[in-house]
Amino acid sequence: MANDKISRLKQEALLRRINKFLAPVPFFFINLLILVIICFEFLLVLPYEIEVRGFYTSMALVAGGIYIIVNIYYHLAKAAYTNPGCPRKSDEAPLCNVCDNYKPHTAHHCSICRHCVIRMDHHCLLINNCVGLHNHRHFFQFLAFLFLGCFYALLSGFYTIYYNIFMNLPQYDYCNVLAGKSELCKAAYDPLHLVFIGLANVLLYFGMMMTGLMLVWQMYLISAGTTAVRYKKEKKHGFNWHAFDDLHIVKKNWTEFLGMEKPGQSFWRSVLIPSGHKTYYVDYEMKV
Ligand SMILES: [Zn+2]
Ligand SMILES: [Zn+2]
Repeated sequence: MANDKISRLKQEALLRRINKFLAPVPFFFINLLILVIICFEFLLVLPYEIEVRGFYTSMALVAGGIYIIVNIYYHLAKAAYTNPGCPRKSDEAPLCNVCDNYKPHTAHHCSICRHCVIRMDHHCLLINNCVGLHNHRHFFQFLAFLFLGCFYALLSGFYTIYYNIFMNLPQYDYCNVLAGKSELCKAAYDPLHLVFIGLANVLLYFGMMMTGLMLVWQMYLISAGTTAVRYKKEKKHGFNWHAFDDLHIVKKNWTEFLGMEKPGQSFWRSVLIPSGHKTYYVDYEMKV
């Protein structure tokens, strides 16, 4: 038993060293992706669209861009800096055999954070934090808005870039439209600028694909009312696929996950605009 614990502690120390070494990579990637969305949308697409489209369409495009960026940063900060859900300090049973603290049945020990996390989903390198009871909704919404941001930049940039390249009409030419009004027009002739546009497009497509895959996986787990950690454990004993037979259960799982169980709660106020409300799990699971 003592040997088990020593080898577990050694494994943990190795994991932490690897994490410390690799942690800046995904963090850098995610911030670069957000920066590319902002630069692409606000420096390249919108100045052009404002000139060629009507006032209301342009303002709607600007408002849409700001709305998505605000939500990305809000949910990223909440997911990264919220305590994911440590059990209270207690020597009550059941105890975790690694950190020797009270471990409710829904908790899992994270080797990188060195404590247990209630309703742990996974330790996420993108936010350098565990995803659990208190921040899972924010993590999911961060992914959803990041996916939307990539999609929005690519879609609004489609007209600006591809129309210019493939249609080649002088009245829509990027430099004709912005002539004498923006330094970006001159920069459009600069090969380095074109390389940036090409790389930005590749990064946006890659970002959309990766966040899209992660979103689908998360949506699957949330619909089944489970987490990645629990799914792995349950899979060994035959995962309960029947959760998908009843759409009412799927709807209930989503309502609980989004913290929408209070009657009359507005989806707009709770989910579509930044909101720090707690889910029902918080009251329930902290007592367990
Ligand atoms: Zn533990
Ligand atoms: Zn962790």
